Amino acid sequence: MSLPLLAFTCLTLVTLCYCGKCWLSPFGRCRKCRGFGYAVRTTRRGRPKRGRDCRRCRATGRRIRTGRWLYNRWARIHRAGTDQSRTEVTR
Ligand SMILES: [Zn+2]
Repeated sequence: MSLPLLAFTCLTLVTLCYCGKCWLSPFGRCRKCRGFGYAVRTTRRGRPKRGRDCRRCRATGRRIRTGRWLYNRWARIHRAGTDQSRTEVTR
């Protein structure tokens, strides 16, 4: 197997795996709070304590994956462009 073919195969495999992941679980853990939904602070005794709610994920601890975000955006544009009921109204 030649090197460009090997690279192409690997890239295709990785892309397909990522697409499958975006399809099966569209949400990932929030990178800022690591899925907790709030900041973890430590008390003066060193015990972990719940801090403020995470602003980035609005305390859900989840974020939409980039691939799913792109797909949703594409699907919305596609639906808006091919919606039959809307085109008949405007005609
Ligand atoms: Zn968060």
